[in-house]
Amino acid sequence: MRRTNNYSKNQTIMNPTNKFEFQELPYSYNALEPSIDKQTVEIHYSKHHKAYYDNFMIAIKGTDMESMDMMDIIRNISKYPMAVRNNGGGYFNHTFYWESMKPNGGGLPTGKLKEAIIKSFSSFDEFKKQFSDAGKTRFGSGWAWLCLDPKGTLFICSTPNQDNPLMDIAEKKGIPLLTMDVWEHAYYLKYQNKRPDYIDAFWNVVNWEEVARRYETALKSLNIK
Ligand code: MN
Repeated sequence: MRRTNNYSKNQTIMNPTNKFEFQELPYSYNALEPSIDKQTVEIHYSKHHKAYYDNFMIAIKGTDMESMDMMDIIRNISKYPMAVRNNGGGYFNHTFYWESMKPNGGGLPTGKLKEAIIKSFSSFDEFKKQFSDAGKTRFGSGWAWLCLDPKGTLFICSTPNQDNPLMDIAEKKGIPLLTMDVWEHAYYLKYQNKRPDYIDAFWNVVNWEEVARRYETALKSLNIK
């Protein structure tokens, strides 16, 4: 995934000679303890995420997609086989998820992002509640998202399976700013059936600096100051 869109900050994504690289985790497996335990991060990254990546590489082998930009594939996902949608989505979403978190994260967003969240959701607590609810009420497996719509307004949504709001098949399309994986593999080892407890803990590891950076980049891409 090249950083042509600036949605991901991982430097390896910028390497144009190997654009579909399996990126390094931006911290160690135990760095999100106690909110997200070491074993969960290790298996999630090295098994689940890696499998999406490997299967995506298999799915695009020998096709035009091999020379395409990841964003062009994602944005036109309906044109491609289901294996590309599921595994390309899994590859993209997990990279975005790891970079949405950091050790000793959480707290409150600052600056323009904080103002925009309060403007859109009336308060930070109300935003947290609505985002948490999007994760709690996603039936089966999927993701919760904070996004920017084409007019520059924030909104919350959730997507099933490995879909995301950039895809042309999305119910409501937008530029993703923050995501939370609510597949059972994201929390089951520590939280078992208690998805809401994982969601509560997620707020302790949100990387607000990265979300703010994505927000600024997204505004620029929409020509909004
Ligand atoms: Mn996952």
